[in-house]
Amino acid sequence: MSGSEKQVRVGGVLIGGGAPIAIQSMLSVPSTDLGGNVLQARRLEEAGCRIVRVAVPDREAVALIPALKAATSMPVVADIHFDHRLALACVEAGADKIRINPGNIGSKEAVRAVAQACGARGVPIRIGVNSGSLERHILAKYGAPTAEALVESAAYHAALLEEFGFSDIVLSLKSSDLYTMIAAYRLAAKRFAYPLHLGVTEAGTARIGRIKSAIGIGSLLADGIGDTIRVSLTADPVEEVAAAKDILRALGAPGCGVQIISCPTCGRTRVDLPALARQVEERLAGFPRDCKVAVMGCVVNGPGEAREADYGIAGGEDCGLVFAHGEILGKYPQDELVDALLRAIEADER
Ligand code: SF4
Repeated sequence: MSGSEKQVRVGGVLIGGGAPIAIQSMLSVPSTDLGGNVLQARRLEEAGCRIVRVAVPDREAVALIPALKAATSMPVVADIHFDHRLALACVEAGADKIRINPGNIGSKEAVRAVAQACGARGVPIRIGVNSGSLERHILAKYGAPTAEALVESAAYHAALLEEFGFSDIVLSLKSSDLYTMIAAYRLAAKRFAYPLHLGVTEAGTARIGRIKSAIGIGSLLADGIGDTIRVSLTADPVEEVAAAKDILRALGAPGCGVQIISCPTCGRTRVDLPALARQVEERLAGFPRDCKVAVMGCVVNGPGEAREADYGIAGGEDCGLVFAHGEILGKYPQDELVDALLRAIEADER
């Protein structure tokens, strides 16, 4: 994973320029419910969210910014459409980043005011290009929200800020169509030095949305593109954070903890492998060190696979072998396997 050339600071979190990929999510409680927003933000933080975004549709909602900042240690991003005065009020209220598209906020003076206010406080701006809301002139030129059209829109909005010397910019180019989304980010990574916020927009409900996000976000990250990610699900945003963590873990991103490798089982399996894998996963949830743990069903492929991981179990007839760093540590009855594995992992901590 490499990411963007340029780096921006969102509160205490760095985005781009080689910083770890930051997981973010967006609150889904009505903006009128301050207590509900605070509660949801706390749950997101506990789940591993690093940056939280909140919609600010009106003046009253500006109060969410200080409330969220007081309740959690996450930087707060104010999501604003059209009204530059709301952006100014959010900056004043302590927002750590503003998501606004400068081309949609009216006059040049409005853009200048936002750029100056953000510049003075070191607040970055995310330009969020979305296939569903492309500018008419760009849509007319391309005939459809193509990848090229999304990139042109990002360039158009960025140029409006650059005109006022503002370059603390993060870009997103979201589409609900995976091919368009992937192509747009690939083009953007070539064209811009700005950090990229990855996401598949309107990805769907929890099950399909996770898959679409894993494909879209995952294939870009695997190519070294992307600096912060948001999985969008029609579900509790805590599930978005869990999905984002799983994407990063599957890619072996630094800081993602334990990656479990487990076999699908087959006619050779003589241990209750699903139960073993579940126990290992549960007991190592939140483990602070990055490592690979294999939970394999049999002696045919099991030991070989398990040796590839840092630690592993290879099942036998109601028993199994425990491995660490390519060495067999011992043979144990099935009901002692997980304890023996955990002892081996913990021994490395000492
Ligand atoms: Fe079957 Fe063994 Fe492969 Fe598991 S590791 S799927 S038990 S052959």
